[in-house]
Amino acid sequence: MTLHCTTVEVRNILTRASGYLRPVCSHSLQPYRGCTYGSALCGVGCYVQHNPWLLRGERWGSFLEARSNAAAAYRAGYARERAWAQRARGRFSIFLSSSCDPFVPQEREHRLTHAVLAAMVELPPDELIVQTHSHRVTDYLELYPALAARTALRFHLSIEGDLDRLPGLPPPASTVERRLAAAAELRAADLRVVITCAPLHPLRQPEVFFRRIAAVADAVVLDHFIGGDGSRDGSRTAHTQLPAAMRLVVSESTQLEYRQAMARVAERHLPGRVGLGQAGFAGRFGPVEADR
Ligand code: SF4
Repeated sequence: MTLHCTTVEVRNILTRASGYLRPVCSHSLQPYRGCTYGSALCGVGCYVQHNPWLLRGERWGSFLEARSNAAAAYRAGYARERAWAQRARGRFSIFLSSSCDPFVPQEREHRLTHAVLAAMVELPPDELIVQTHSHRVTDYLELYPALAARTALRFHLSIEGDLDRLPGLPPPASTVERRLAAAAELRAADLRVVITCAPLHPLRQPEVFFRRIAAVADAVVLDHFIGGDGSRDGSRTAHTQLPAAMRLVVSESTQLEYRQAMARVAERHLPGRVGLGQAGFAGRFGPVEADR
């Protein structure tokens, strides 16, 4: 697929959270529009690929718009959005990022995420959730201690399952092993790490998988595409190639009950540190039998 890259300046970089994200944070921040991992494994079931405002007629994974003034826009909007968030939502909490990955390969050239994180050391939010599918999150390890000293910082590292390949689907942008190693590196630096299985893929060896997660993370979140993809019954994802590939590995994995069964396994390895869906993304962990 040919990649179409552009650079723009934006007026606002802090988007007030609504819908699924509203209980999770007060704002999301996207240094890029689009995501070049869209043609990798995670792009097949990516929840945000269904958003026509993001796509603007282009194919998911085929474009990337770099927001060259991301850090300047953050500084410019900081006081206003912080005041609004603290008044309206109780805290100024930022999700970086909800509709792109802050560590796409092109970040090494543009360094927009780096510039935003550096601005946040000076002008910290109350809470920062860094969400990524990539081992490249460790590129900026030198920045994180200063950031963690000024804000409640946690990393959400997506590892959907224990297989790098699902039948007929493309390879991942970052292997399971590389992401587990990145989680271990962040944790060794005394940073808070949550593994997000979103959407949960079929697991070959659930006991082994969650035992390995327990060794490198503070908590795990299990999110099924039913309930997670923004449609009532997972119908958005049902139109992608993901469910058929999942069924070939574990037939019942496309049912919501599969998340519950895997949560019980996870609970054995991370007692009290398993979150489900939206509550888990918001940092709430607890009994996996509850309907959350
Ligand atoms: S990294 Fe995230 S935003 Fe990018 S394609 Fe994968 S799931 Fe979608």
